[in-house]
Amino acid sequence: MNPSPDRLDRALVWFRRDLRVDDNAALYQALESARQVFCAFLLDRDILAALPRADRRVEFILGALQVLDEDLRKLGGALIVRHGFAADEIPRLAAELGVQAVFANHDDEPQALMRDAQVADLLKTTNAELRTFKDHVVFERREVMTAAGGPYGVFTPYKNAWLRKVDGFYLSSYPVERHTHALAKTALATGVPTLEDIGFKPAGLTGHVGQGSRGAAALLDDFLDRIADYDKARDFPAVKGPSYLSVHLRFGTVSVRRLARIAHQLMQGGDHGAEVWLSELIWRDFYHQVMHHHPHAMTGAFRPEYDAIRWETGAAADALFAAWCEGRTGYPLVDAAMRQLNQTGYMHNRLRMVTASFLTKDLGLDWRRGEAYFALQLLDYDLAANNGGWQWASSSGCDAQPYFRIFNPTSQSEKFDAEGRFIRRYCPELADLPAKAIHEPWARAPLQMQGSGYPRPIVDHAVARERTLARYAVVKSRAT
Ligand code: FAD
Repeated sequence: MNPSPDRLDRALVWFRRDLRVDDNAALYQALESARQVFCAFLLDRDILAALPRADRRVEFILGALQVLDEDLRKLGGALIVRHGFAADEIPRLAAELGVQAVFANHDDEPQALMRDAQVADLLKTTNAELRTFKDHVVFERREVMTAAGGPYGVFTPYKNAWLRKVDGFYLSSYPVERHTHALAKTALATGVPTLEDIGFKPAGLTGHVGQGSRGAAALLDDFLDRIADYDKARDFPAVKGPSYLSVHLRFGTVSVRRLARIAHQLMQGGDHGAEVWLSELIWRDFYHQVMHHHPHAMTGAFRPEYDAIRWETGAAADALFAAWCEGRTGYPLVDAAMRQLNQTGYMHNRLRMVTASFLTKDLGLDWRRGEAYFALQLLDYDLAANNGGWQWASSSGCDAQPYFRIFNPTSQSEKFDAEGRFIRRYCPELADLPAKAIHEPWARAPLQMQGSGYPRPIVDHAVARERTLARYAVVKSRAT
């Protein structure tokens, strides 16, 4: 076959949320378009500056880059890793390598879009261009729209439209392996820096997520043995029910197309667990399209009338917030969940709902405070999903739970951790309590609790519930 006359001589792939070789859209497009393809990752000072000096995500990223570098080297390439500002480093690297185009996958977060627009402009001054592709979700931006051409605001019709549209084309993998001969080595690829090299300290990343794309493959193998039970097991935090793949989806160490394809095929074979799991991947797409169509929701309520709510402020509110962050609310399931987050960077989905509801509807605190705390702690932190989850819990989002639906933290505990197995794991002060006392220790085992160090409840749920209904009344009056 004659080479295409439009074939580029040299291209650069700029990895961001896609730290894998396998089924990577931008990498595939670059390999198909250019005779020589270089690969790079930027440790972005704009992002790193906002993080504490010990951050599990930075540790995760460096581990994932090592695997990516090794994988690229096996195929004849190598990873260049730079530490700096995107607007400086990417155009400079493009010029050093003499590339005509930089290939990257879409990142639709508002800040990232601004960064990319700036980089695209700067690249033009060196006669290069930025070419970007969908990779992070199955359907993005305007791909799934209502019959009237608008974005969906309710999940179930969105999901139905998603399922109608999806087919082998959207779920098939990019065959990167067919074109790897174009991968090029360069002396600029000098290995992956250490945490210390970039001014960070170890943060105690626990081993459960594994390293980069290898870790994702191991978790996926493990999950596929359990996927048929996902619908039954996923709500119980003491049970190994979910996939734990969220950090890998966040950093692209696994391909979402691959996961959705597996789930879709199993679903077509009648696997209900896989069907429910696929719905979760569709929620992920849903929140990404919400972010695309409604960027205002990334800083304020999706439904503006909810911005009229007056949240608790001042020293007493700050003390409640500190107790929530540290897992000292006196509500065992809430505390165990917050301690899981602080110790591991992960929190089970059911518990994200319970703790978010507790912050907004029991403590009367602004959901943005909780959103920001999760953003700091979650290994899988993702703006679209985190914002969607918080606005769902605080009732201000699209397709959120109604404001008068207020989780009772004790009955959630009795229902989803009946034996207290999860609570015991993270609240050792309660380990000796019988199951019937563990959900309300001060009410049901007051003598045993004396001297235990475990706090009394910081709010009375029944009182807080009434206060919340009154607080949210402002929404009703504005909406009517
Ligand atoms: P599984 O149950 O195995 O689900 C598979 C994948 O589907 C997940 O890895 C995730 O990518 C996606 N997914 C599942 N549920 C949701 C959902 N409700 N919304 C969007 N995607 C979903 N998820 C994040 O990835 N990052 C966040 O920052 C985040 N913050 C959240 C905050 C709150 C308040 C709430 C209620 C939910 C949040 N979620 C977030 C969604 C969900 O809790 C996590 O995706 C899930 O717990 C991750 O565990 P898993 O990989 O084992 O999930």
